[in-house]
Amino acid sequence: MSATLSFDRVSRRFQTRTRVVHALENVSIEVRQREFTALVGPSGCGKSTLLNIAAGLDTGFDGSFSLDPPKADRAYLFQSPRLLPWKTAQANVAFVLEARGASRSKARTAARHYLELVGLAGCEHQFPAHLSGGMRQRVALARALAVDPALMLMDEPFSALDEITAHRMRKELLEIHQIEPRTVLFVTHNLAEACFLADRVVVMASDPGRIVADVTIDVPRPREHDDLRLSAYQRELSRALFDHSSTPVSTDSPNQQAPATTKGDPRHATL
Ligand code: ADP
Ligand code: MG
Repeated sequence: MSATLSFDRVSRRFQTRTRVVHALENVSIEVRQREFTALVGPSGCGKSTLLNIAAGLDTGFDGSFSLDPPKADRAYLFQSPRLLPWKTAQANVAFVLEARGASRSKARTAARHYLELVGLAGCEHQFPAHLSGGMRQRVALARALAVDPALMLMDEPFSALDEITAHRMRKELLEIHQIEPRTVLFVTHNLAEACFLADRVVVMASDPGRIVADVTIDVPRPREHDDLRLSAYQRELSRALFDHSSTPVSTDSPNQQAPATTKGDPRHATL
């Protein structure tokens, strides 16, 4: 199962002691079933706010957000794995299944299956403290996959890992996505990572948080990191990212710039 989501003119403001922060301003985006969408942008442009709204954790926004099916299961993966330190890898995964009503033995069997899927066969009985950072993040990924979510929300899940581990995990994530595609919203600062993983890359800018480019990455999978077509997309997207990073838009402006959109050949990209 996989979900469709739609943000329609979503604005989110936060009142701090000194000012109003325009975390999101009129953000509209549709994400299709099984689409892997990457959100890229500088710190503070509202990426996590957008994920929190998609997760149903933040309801204090204007505009509308809809998820189809409305009660679709969602999994949220963060930069830090957030494991329970007193439980083994297997128990960390089984725990969420038991909380959803699975019997202890079914939960354990499923936990072993998902740990194997993320390359952790043989590590079931290890405690988080005895696992490397990459292995802990794999347990978190297994835990997220185990609930069979229709929507995966991933907030910079590989940014705390060393590059070699992150590289391996990106490839594995794509392999898992190929076997069972789900709708994914993946936040990253890393344009190369976004282009390698995603069907579509949405670039955001801050002050106010808004979309400035929305580009379909038309490169078939399996992909190689050094594919020149991905590098071409990366160059186009970095232009959009840097062009907008120094030009905050007045939030009073009625005519915000429409995001650039491309589909197909990178040579036709017009950002
Ligand atoms: P990103 O994930 O792109 O770095 P966030 O979505 O976390 O950005 O935040 C967007 C903006 O909203 C930032 O300026 C941040 O400081 C502000 N913000 C986010 N959450 C809150 C909050 N609960 N209270 C006040 N300001 C917030
Ligand atoms: Mg964030």
